[in-house]
Parts: sequence; structure tokens; C-alpha cells
Amino acid sequence: MVQQPLPTIDPTRTEFGFERSVCACPECVRNCRFIPGYLIPADLPRVAAHLPCGVDLFAWSRQHLLASPGAQVLRRGRVFRIPTLVPARRPDGACRFLMADDRCAVHPVAPFGCAFFDTHQTREEADARSKRGLQAVLEAWQNGDAYSQVWTMLAEAGLTAPPPEVCRAQMQQADSPSLNQKGDV
Ligand code: SF4
Repeated sequence: MVQQPLPTIDPTRTEFGFERSVCACPECVRNCRFIPGYLIPADLPRVAAHLPCGVDLFAWSRQHLLASPGAQVLRRGRVFRIPTLVPARRPDGACRFLMADDRCAVHPVAPFGCAFFDTHQTREEADARSKRGLQAVLEAWQNGDAYSQVWTMLAEAGLTAPPPEVCRAQMQQADSPSLNQKGDV
């Protein structure tokens, strides 16, 4: 099969000073099958700008996103979770945006947890990026902005994702080689 080029992306897109990743190798795609990356607050207006006229972000989110309990983080000696928005899943558990040819249907506006991570980064690099993204999510919760409103709407509708540690365990069970994780919360 002839591979078509990936959709056009904005090569200048950065988040928190980090440059976007564009890797679509099998190892990176493996994350799409088990742990789709999380959205940050800035992803929502980016998605909204691409919605057809008349399509509301909340209505779109009900079809395409899930409320994840989010990653467990340690802060000031206390363990807690930062709830995140993640892509909805196909019946087989993979991201609903993963196409039959293993490409991302929303590549130009892929969530931060996808677009800024790949399995070839060092653990330190991935952790630094994830920490910064989660900080932005935490601030969104503290401010009660659209991100938290969408999450609450999805959770109340029962549209929830498994905890990331469950997704990761499923991935490890399916394929044992250890790989770096994406921004998988
Ligand atoms: S949004 Fe795209 S890159 Fe992210 S998990 Fe889904 S298919 Fe993969």
C-alpha cells in the first residue's frame, strides 16, 4: 500500500516552549492503540477553530472525547489525580482518531499528549513536557474554565476513560517490550 503524506501541520506550533513531534513509527502508534494522549486547555480552542459551522464544542466533545481520571501526581507529600480530557476509544480500545492505515485523523490538531511526545524522547524530556502540560490542566481546573466544564459534562454523562495505569497495564500485557510512554493521562 502506498502511504500518503501526513496532513499538513503547523511546523511552528509550540507549547510551553516545546517543539512538536511528528513521529508516526510503529512504536509511537502503539500508544494510540492503548493510551491516547491527553488534551491541554489550549487544545480545545484549536479543535473548535476546525469545527464545521454550527457544531458546538460541547457536542463535538461528547462524540470524540472522554473524561479520564488522569495521572496520579505527588505534590507537597500528597498523591492526587489531575483529571484530563482524552480522545474517545474505538470498540477495540484504540483511539477513535486512529485510522485504518495507522495515521492520525486529527494530526494537524492532535492533542498535546500526542503531538509533543514520542517514544524516542528521554524519560526526562517526556516527564518535563508532561509535567508542564498537567500544570496547565490543573490551572484550568482551578479557574473553572471550558476544559473542566467539558470534563464534568462528559463524566456526568458516563463518558469516561480507564485510568492511565490500567491502559498502560493493558499495553504491557499485549506486548511486553518496555517503551517510553507518551503524554498518556
Ligand atoms: S489523537 Fe492521533 S496521535 Fe493521538 S492517540 Fe489518537 S490517533 Fe494517536
